[in-house]
Amino acid sequence: MRVVIACVIVVLSVLAALAVAQTQNVFSSFTGRSEAPAAKAPTQSPAPTRVAAAPSSPVQTVAPSPVTPVATPAPVAAAPQPAPAPAVHAAPAASAGSTQHTAPAPAAAPPATQQIAQAAAPPPPAPAPVNCPGNPNALGIARTVEIDTTGGPGFGFEHFKQHDFLRPGEVVLTFDDGPWLTNTPMVLTALAHHCVRAIFFPIGKHATYYPDILKQVAAAGHAVGSHTWSHQNLNKKGMTIEDAKTEIEMGISAVRLAVGGATAPFFRFPALQHPPELVTYLGERNIAIFSTDMDSFDFKMRKSDQVIKSVMEKLKKHNKGMVLMHDFQHATAEGIGTLLDQLKLNGYKVVHMRPKAPLQSLPKYDEMVIKEQKLPTVSGRPTAEVVKTVE
Ligand SMILES: [Zn+2]
Repeated sequence: MRVVIACVIVVLSVLAALAVAQTQNVFSSFTGRSEAPAAKAPTQSPAPTRVAAAPSSPVQTVAPSPVTPVATPAPVAAAPQPAPAPAVHAAPAASAGSTQHTAPAPAAAPPATQQIAQAAAPPPPAPAPVNCPGNPNALGIARTVEIDTTGGPGFGFEHFKQHDFLRPGEVVLTFDDGPWLTNTPMVLTALAHHCVRAIFFPIGKHATYYPDILKQVAAAGHAVGSHTWSHQNLNKKGMTIEDAKTEIEMGISAVRLAVGGATAPFFRFPALQHPPELVTYLGERNIAIFSTDMDSFDFKMRKSDQVIKSVMEKLKKHNKGMVLMHDFQHATAEGIGTLLDQLKLNGYKVVHMRPKAPLQSLPKYDEMVIKEQKLPTVSGRPTAEVVKTVE
């Protein structure tokens, strides 16, 4: 009998010891998880954000985090003709003065009681691993938002302040002035390597030079907006409203014709110059207007290191936002891969903005663009077959 009682006591002691050990493990895993994300988060305190979009907001989150691989662009065939003179003028420099940013002040630290409550809460679920073949450290897309462009909402805090929808650490990537040989495909390759999507604002004339490159941009799932026909400052002296509308609409038509399918009702004014009559016009056309939260000023830079430094420093300051870069610029094309690596290392997340509905171009301007181009004939025979030296 004594032996039996002694055995029971021993068994109970062992069970009690195991229970204590398990409890300690649970607590240590709590502490570990709650500290881990902070080490990778951007160093600044999160700015206050209106996280939930109101039902009437033009911004709706449609996909929380599914990441699908982005197709790597196929190599582009040699240019059909010698590289034409770019339509980009010195105009972007005019935007250099408009760098003031009005990001809200960092939030105050939460009171101590709130911190205790947070510590006792169950740990957040671990982030879903990014499914990006060939790159275990890919950024991926953290969130996809759908934009209802009815009435022409404005985005980018340099000029528009109505829609503060990005959460701390969230970034929207935008690229202007393409498509261009070498540089645009380099940007596409880097974006595909990280399985992220961006918004492109191509110039109409450039789209007519390199339609195949723009087709690759669209095929990779990026949003393709537009950026006028020939990159003129629509606010300059002597520019009539009719001329400006033609610049906007021919740009839209050229991009749509080059893509050969649906494009986004997203527009960015050259040099971020916004004449009020044209802002109204875009509202009537239900086209969203994109300024920027951060201008990289990459068009002034020759080296990729400068572009990376410019973007990372501005992001560190603002903690989130839409970044303006140029796939037309070689320094950006060279640096974008490293920049995306840096974004991942510093805990930033990429948000993809896509339109709720496609943009319809206007037939009158489609015709004007077609007249500008040398129309392809039904014959696809190579020149060597058509033209033969005979003597
Ligand atoms: Zn531009």
